Amino acid sequence: MGPMDGEGEVLDMEGVVTVDCDQCAFGLWCTDCLGEALVKKPTKWMTNAKEIAARLDRKCVNEKKEEKHRLCDLLKLDKKGMRVIERYPVALVNAVLKGLRTELNSTLEAGSHVDEPDVWQTHPEYYENIYDANSGTKLDAGLVAKGREAEMDFLQNDLGAWSYDKIENCVQETGKQPIPMTWVDINKGDDMRPNVRCRLCVQETRSRRRPRMRR
Ligand SMILES: [Zn+2]
Repeated sequence: MGPMDGEGEVLDMEGVVTVDCDQCAFGLWCTDCLGEALVKKPTKWMTNAKEIAARLDRKCVNEKKEEKHRLCDLLKLDKKGMRVIERYPVALVNAVLKGLRTELNSTLEAGSHVDEPDVWQTHPEYYENIYDANSGTKLDAGLVAKGREAEMDFLQNDLGAWSYDKIENCVQETGKQPIPMTWVDINKGDDMRPNVRCRLCVQETRSRRRPRMRR
């Protein structure tokens, strides 16, 4: 599979499908003269893996939603920006790997080594309805995406406090369900100079305690 450079006879092969995606939907960022923004970069793929095709089938939401994201003007890119769009965004690579694993698992036993969850949800469209935990005002989706990515990076790479596992393993090891986590997103700056910080917190545990028998 791959982006359609030379279609050739591949399209005629059994089970090969094409799928169009917009790379902004996977968090492709770039810098133009107005600052950072998403890059649409429509890309056509062909693959014989249905699971990959399904995951790549994501489009820009600018057509259908009221709140649109700004798209980078590719004609006004600086040198740095040019290099950025030559890379695939992490979420897109994850989509391909997850699709490949699911595809392989459905056809043969491929094990679970590429078991990467989609925690790097750099796609701002996931974060369109996130509100400031203090003020209750709506937060910029792109800033929330970046804030959460920074927090996950910190937990994983600096603290070594995060790793992915399955619920069934948690129950097996501890005899309990995992404790729910929640995001607390706060703009520590102001409207003019936003500084969105995101923290992954353990949800209120008091209500989960056993009631005391003492009177
Ligand atoms: Zn878009």
